[in-house]
Amino acid sequence: MKKRTIEVVVPPREPHYVGDGFRVHNFIPGAYRLNMERMTPFIMLDYNSKFYFPPSEVPKGVGVHPHRGFETVTIAYKGKVAHHDSAGNSGVIGEGEVQWMTAASGILHKEFHEENFSKSGGDFQMVQLWVNLPAKDKMSKPKYQGLTKEQISKFTLPDNKGVIEVIAGEYNGVKGAATTFTPVHLLNAKLNKGADTTFSFPQTYNTALLVIEGSVKVNDTEDVPVNHFVLFENDGESFTVHASEDAVVLVLSGEPIHEPIAAQGPFVMNTRKEIMEAIDDYNSGKFGHLED
Ligand code: MN
Repeated sequence: MKKRTIEVVVPPREPHYVGDGFRVHNFIPGAYRLNMERMTPFIMLDYNSKFYFPPSEVPKGVGVHPHRGFETVTIAYKGKVAHHDSAGNSGVIGEGEVQWMTAASGILHKEFHEENFSKSGGDFQMVQLWVNLPAKDKMSKPKYQGLTKEQISKFTLPDNKGVIEVIAGEYNGVKGAATTFTPVHLLNAKLNKGADTTFSFPQTYNTALLVIEGSVKVNDTEDVPVNHFVLFENDGESFTVHASEDAVVLVLSGEPIHEPIAAQGPFVMNTRKEIMEAIDDYNSGKFGHLED
């Protein structure tokens, strides 16, 4: 298998707040080389690195807002977040759980710190990823998948090296529970100090990793500290990750969607005309209703 080399290691940018509950470093789109086209089908990645939120009687978060044309995936590492949407879906995800929401034709939702977590306060750490939809599926019906700890498949590495959690796609024959519209691999590698692992994806797939905990050495050459993001070239299939200390690494790889991208705020379509339609539909109430 041909080795995939590193294109760039991206440090976390200055954090900003999404609503008042998510203190995020934006990696996609906006960081050096990480625009929507380069990273397709991953068109947005916000990372709330581990941050202590003090107790609050009023839950912090993001109020009612729309989405159309893609999926939002929230991976909780610390803390708990509650979700409600206009399709009638709701859920709470906590440590080790994932929420995969298909906005598709249009949805309103809100995302807040879960009530008891908010009251007690605590460390909060999450990734939110937007996965684009192909044109033919952008106007399909909204859908919600909440993945509990038990539903997330695991591949146990030999010799006590750790475990690979498969959120979507596949690792060494273990398949993830999340259903996707295009091929996407989303893996959470929990590695014990000293562990070496290899990941391999088709050369054309856009591939990256984010160090959530600890630090790693990639391809035996590049030391990557916590909260740093590694973008790989599309020049091979496989790369190695060595855990320099106990580490958690989010690995993402997906088949590119080679279609035009027209993006504005919470809408990601293929043309400007479709963006105008999304705004009109939202303003005329076609995204449904959700209480504040
Ligand atoms: Mn949202």
